[in-house]
Amino acid sequence: MTVFLCLAAVICGVMTWSFLEYCIHRVLGHDRRTFPNPFGSEHTRHHAEGNYFAATWKKSLVALAALALMAPLAIWAVGVLYGPLYAVAFVTMYVSYEVVHRRAHTHAGFTAYGRYLRRHHFHHHFENPRSNHGVTSPIWDVVFGTLEKPTVVHVPRKLQMRWLADPATGEVRDAHRPFYELLGKDRARATSPIEEPAPAREPDGLLSDP
Ligand SMILES: [Zn+2]
Ligand SMILES: [Zn+2]
Repeated sequence: MTVFLCLAAVICGVMTWSFLEYCIHRVLGHDRRTFPNPFGSEHTRHHAEGNYFAATWKKSLVALAALALMAPLAIWAVGVLYGPLYAVAFVTMYVSYEVVHRRAHTHAGFTAYGRYLRRHHFHHHFENPRSNHGVTSPIWDVVFGTLEKPTVVHVPRKLQMRWLADPATGEVRDAHRPFYELLGKDRARATSPIEEPAPAREPDGLLSDP
């Protein structure tokens, strides 16, 4: 019985974070007009710059504050055995979310879950920011009717994830081609020395003012 209740406390902690992950992203991240807040500002910048993340020390502070707040509350509510388990599971899920989200932007997925998570999340980034608010799972998108199945994700070239394109060609790597397309010109190639016209010169030999 004790083992079952320990497991229940851990699952409750995991599900509490999962629910908050969805709500924080959807409400604080994407409804700043109704709820102006610092997370919303950071999240807007994350969308605008693609690979921007708030400083790790800020996130660590949030994790510690959450643990300091939740552990005594959980101990008070369900006791000294189940309370800490609940609080630790909650904070572990929060830290996992931060790691999973950052790696989705910085590294290609190498499991079916990793690849699905990236398509789900980048559909939110580049196709419809009103959909797919869950990052680590689509559960709450299903519950609240915001799930959209990603097809091909159209990624603006200047916001592309580091892992998406082959640096040699500037084009989407073969493995990702069925799921992602790059939008916009590859500026480095468009202005390559071969194609770039020679700068105009004034008759006295000085470069013309651009
Ligand atoms: Zn993101
Ligand atoms: Zn978002």
